Amino acid sequence: MIRIDNAVIIPSPDQYIDRGHIVIEKNTILHVGDDLPEHYRQADTIIDASGLLAIPGLINAHTHLAMSLLRGYADDMPLLPWLHEKIWPAEARLEEEDIYWGSMLGILEMIRGGTTSCADMYWQAPATAQAVEKSGLRASICDVIIGLHPEADRLLAESIDFCREWQGKADGRITTMLGPHAPYSCPPSILEKIVEASLELDVGLHIHLSETVAEVQESIEQYGKTPIAMMAGLGVLERPTLAAHCVHPVEDEIDILARFGAVVAHNPGSNMKLGSGIAPVPAMLKAGIKTSLGTDGAASNNNLDMFEEMRLAALLHKAAEEDPTVIPAGQALSMATEAGAAALRIKNLGSLEPGNLADIVLINLNKPHLTPHNNYISDLVYSAEAADVDTVIIDGKILLQKGLFTELDEEEIMAKATKRAKRLLRVPSEA
Ligand SMILES: [Zn+2]
Repeated sequence: MIRIDNAVIIPSPDQYIDRGHIVIEKNTILHVGDDLPEHYRQADTIIDASGLLAIPGLINAHTHLAMSLLRGYADDMPLLPWLHEKIWPAEARLEEEDIYWGSMLGILEMIRGGTTSCADMYWQAPATAQAVEKSGLRASICDVIIGLHPEADRLLAESIDFCREWQGKADGRITTMLGPHAPYSCPPSILEKIVEASLELDVGLHIHLSETVAEVQESIEQYGKTPIAMMAGLGVLERPTLAAHCVHPVEDEIDILARFGAVVAHNPGSNMKLGSGIAPVPAMLKAGIKTSLGTDGAASNNNLDMFEEMRLAALLHKAAEEDPTVIPAGQALSMATEAGAAALRIKNLGSLEPGNLADIVLINLNKPHLTPHNNYISDLVYSAEAADVDTVIIDGKILLQKGLFTELDEEEIMAKATKRAKRLLRVPSEA
């Protein structure tokens, strides 16, 4: 049993405990409150969290962990040339060891920054899953399927095998999805097969959707339909769908997404960096769409910092709508926690309450930029940074304590990832 004492606790964006206790048994939260029932007085580990703020672990709802190797490799380019000229040629050279150490690097950054789970889509997913299993992170992982790939059917078969092998692994920390990359890279014939497989496997779908204006226009030219309408027509949205981006829904498409119950992963940093546009997030929230937050990969962000993403989400839409009341701080926090849990389809995650999974982050409040503590949720969203994270608990296990990793070898992972990146990017791009 682990007990956290004397913490300021934000169990969820609309709750607050000034000085309280959290009791964890195995991977589950047993108690959260300003009281401490008698039977919780004995604990194996007691963390004195005086001066620390306890929040639910942050959830990165759309990322490509191993892309951390490509950080800084191709910047200041639009999405399609960025993909075709730089990213895809480099990705064609990826080896399993690249995926493993690239994922480890991403995981290191996420845990250090208070992110306890993510939804990942990338190549050679088993290597990412191995990194997740070893590291202690929680993740929903999918192998990317590019329908235009000459061996698309092999990619689909491997994705199906991945789901069968890894669903529920690592004591349940790993779940799986199928990952059709995007409507522009997956023709209807393969999408239909993917929908069928997702039904059979009982897994959801993770897809990039309506990310750029060019994507929407090309879809209309090619199919006479927008990407979201296409996905509705092909039955994709009838499956539990995690739709990354949705920057350019047209007309009634926000209603379509809401009606099907799709969870959107909003990636403000990536959308800004790739110049993709501004997703109509306030309208999506108003329509009742669960809208989570993601960083996207480190090649288009270029970090995996969910504090930054919360702040960007809160600021971007105020600027876009010239209205400071949209996406208040509590809403941004909810997107990074409760909506993230919906993105991962995990019911007992995203808030600190008895029965929920014990994914908890303690933040050091004793910093000039977090003083004088007038409003903790405001501090979290508008002032805090990843470096303020003191302690991280995932699935009831302490992985970071007083800023130090308890098990992961940070120096080794950074050195190995650097070596893999040097090998991967040594070959000049075909572009
Ligand atoms: Zn992405």
